Amino acid sequence: MPDTRLLSADAPGLKRAAALLRAGRLVAMPTETVYGLAGDATNDRAVAGIFAAKGRPRFNPLIVHLADPGQVAAFAHLSPVAQRLAAAFWPGPLTLVLPLRPQAGLSPLVTAELPSVAIRLPAHPVARALLAAFDGPVAAPSANPSGRISPVTAAHVLAGLDGRIDAVIDGGPCAVGLESTIVDATRDTPRLLRAGGLSVEEIEATLGAPLAERAEGAITAPGQLASHYAPRGRVRLDVAHPEPGEVWVGYGPCPGAALSLSPGGDLTEAAARLFHALHEADAMAGESGRIAFAPVPETGLGRAINDRLRRAAAPR
Ligand code: AMP
Ligand code: MG
Repeated sequence: MPDTRLLSADAPGLKRAAALLRAGRLVAMPTETVYGLAGDATNDRAVAGIFAAKGRPRFNPLIVHLADPGQVAAFAHLSPVAQRLAAAFWPGPLTLVLPLRPQAGLSPLVTAELPSVAIRLPAHPVARALLAAFDGPVAAPSANPSGRISPVTAAHVLAGLDGRIDAVIDGGPCAVGLESTIVDATRDTPRLLRAGGLSVEEIEATLGAPLAERAEGAITAPGQLASHYAPRGRVRLDVAHPEPGEVWVGYGPCPGAALSLSPGGDLTEAAARLFHALHEADAMAGESGRIAFAPVPETGLGRAINDRLRRAAAPR
């Protein structure tokens, strides 16, 4: 990728940024919490590109950003309690985990195939203007390499991701400087999943009741489940020579493979195809069938792909 373009937070800069998002490219945008690495949440390649740019070792679910409360119902179900939180704190540093609507059209990489989706309406005027110009759902984790500190200026973004993303919009320093507070609103009693820029006290004052605490030892990132949405049949990994009867899922040149993560051996393409391929292979192999995955290199996005494949192959 060429150098990352620094865009100004004015009409031409926002127009350019929205066009990049529409083309499936990645743009870091200022929000009131931290800078987010934005990509079209309906575009598998764009979302895979987010994981690649950040070097994330795992496909954990991403927060979907929207401009307008009227857009939320297309993607998620808002219970009365969730509606109260949304009315009180959106736009703002609150992320709500909500039941995902079927046919929402989001890339499966965004939700990690969970039945829920995390949604936020940012308050920052530049983020809002970009989301309005793009007019669709944007996946946006913090715009930093995995494991590094979240960026609160455009310079921080460039220090970590220059050459790895298409553009960054310079909107000055972030006001909050902390990630959003995440509340699971899929059940009757909302539960705190992550403390952040909005205080628990403010949320509880609005609810008139305490938030449920995150259960000790609970799985917060769904990717931590050992056997997560595994195919029904047996799965073998690192298979260069499949056995007769196995549905062989190729990577790179694999003559005779039933399907392929990426015939050309491109890890971003493989990540974009991964969940679709798991479903297709599951359907082809059936209940008692067997699936064999060709080796995927353990570099870059390959680490997240192999992490996900190991979960699919884990004994149940
Ligand atoms: P970030 O890297 O700041 O975007 O972090 C996103 C956080 O939201 C992670 O901690 C995820 O585990 C959480 N998250 C996103 N989507 C979901 C979901 N559908 N269900 C539960 N947690 C989610
Ligand atoms: Mg982060």
